[in-house]
Amino acid sequence: MKVAVCKEPKKPLVFEEWDMPEINDDEVLIQVHYCGVCHSDLHIVDGDWADWVSYPTVPGHEVAGIAVKVGKEVTWIKEGDRVGMPWIYSSCEVCNYCVEGDEPLCPNQEITGITKQGGYAEYMKAPGRFVTKIPDNLDLAHAAPLFCAGVTVYAALKHLNIKPDELVAVQGVGGLGHLAIQYAKAMGAKVAALSHSQEKEEFSGELGADYFINTSKTDPAEELKKLGGADVILTTVFKSEAIQTLIGGLAPRGRLSVVGAARDPIQVIPFDLITKRIVVTGSAVGGRKLLRETLQFSADFGIKPLVEIHPFDKVNEVLDRVREGKVRLRAVLKMV
Ligand SMILES: [Zn+2]
Ligand SMILES: [Zn+2]
Repeated sequence: MKVAVCKEPKKPLVFEEWDMPEINDDEVLIQVHYCGVCHSDLHIVDGDWADWVSYPTVPGHEVAGIAVKVGKEVTWIKEGDRVGMPWIYSSCEVCNYCVEGDEPLCPNQEITGITKQGGYAEYMKAPGRFVTKIPDNLDLAHAAPLFCAGVTVYAALKHLNIKPDELVAVQGVGGLGHLAIQYAKAMGAKVAALSHSQEKEEFSGELGADYFINTSKTDPAEELKKLGGADVILTTVFKSEAIQTLIGGLAPRGRLSVVGAARDPIQVIPFDLITKRIVVTGSAVGGRKLLRETLQFSADFGIKPLVEIHPFDKVNEVLDRVREGKVRLRAVLKMV
């Protein structure tokens, strides 16, 4: 089978022919049909996480395909089922977080495409307990990005306990934000889309946003205050200084959640914490429960990522497109 291997950081991926994986009784062999290209894959390829990633590795954690071999212990998946694999390849399953269905907090995880072979391949094997079925009315190309981008913003919104008619501000109308706007709207919220690019106004409206705030032309916190203050802010941008500009726009009891892994600090004024009882938090991916919910919610409400589909052999060009910020809005590799 053909795989794209990151042999060492800062070098193009190399195509190799590997033997088909042998599966154990508790595993599933997936024929990968589509694999999303996530910003995290760039961190692997560019060596940003060199202290964590052991090279060589086969990236790809937005996997959608068909179960072609099923170990005999995996009674809940049949050959021919449409399935996918997310960021979390497996977790310990016995810690309190795992038992409560909150696997992203488990200290003993294996990660698809980092510690285990990922989906930049014609086939991959995966533990049956983490292989997730894809609803019938969700096509595989659109399902793939939901395994990371989709579940990341869906889970973040769920953790924020949105109530109907609350004002949810989504910062960034990119690969993550355009899904967050659709989910927040379908959850019954009023949605404000925030972007530094005026071009995103019309698109945000098509996604369901009720308001648009141009963060390069206005003080976004002041604009949010004019709307009564944001009950929830989900920020999908990677720049701490951009996140910082929004905190003053939170309403009393407002919650701000971060999903972009910026490393610079943001400041919160204790006076605001006390007088407005605001909460500043974050979220990464989602466990199996929230992943299933994400897929079903997307299917039920007709929510799809905007994808550009490229053949597998263009993977290096696609990674360049992600690096240069050219992708509209999630890139997906087509394997078959
Ligand atoms: Zn990802
Ligand atoms: Zn655990």
